[in-house]
Amino acid sequence: MSALTEVVLTFDELEAIRLGDLEGHYQEDAATEMGVSRQTFGRIIETAHRKVAEALCHGKALQIAGGIVEMTETRKFTCSGCGHNWEVPYGVGRPSVCPECKSANVHRSPEDRGYGGGCGHGRRRSWRRGGISERES
Ligand SMILES: [Zn+2]
Repeated sequence: MSALTEVVLTFDELEAIRLGDLEGHYQEDAATEMGVSRQTFGRIIETAHRKVAEALCHGKALQIAGGIVEMTETRKFTCSGCGHNWEVPYGVGRPSVCPECKSANVHRSPEDRGYGGGCGHGRRRSWRRGGISERES
C-alpha cells in the first residue's frame, strides 16, 4: 500500500461547511459572512460536499489547505511603543501609526501571524476560527 490518498479541502470549503451545514445558515447569510456571492458560495459548498463524500466513501484522508477566501475579518496590530492592541478590518490598509500614541512602531500582532500568506511555509496553515487544528502527521 502506498501512502493514503488525500482529498484537499480548502479553507473556504471548510468554512462553507461550517456555516452551511454545521451552523445551518441559509446560503445567502453564509455567503455574506464569507464575503462572496451566493452563487460562489453554492459552488464552494458543492465542491466541499463532493470532496467530503469522496473522502468518506473511498476512505481518503481529508487535508485542509489554503483557500481563496480570507478566514479572518480583521487583522490585529500591536504597538511596540505603548503596547496598544487593535484590529483593522480587511480591505483597509495597514495602519501606519498607533491610534493611541501615534508611534510608527506598529506591527502585526504575533497571534495573528501566518495569515495573509507569503510566509514561505507552503500552503498549509492552521485553522483558527473553528478550533480545528491541522491534521497531525
Ligand atoms: Zn502606541
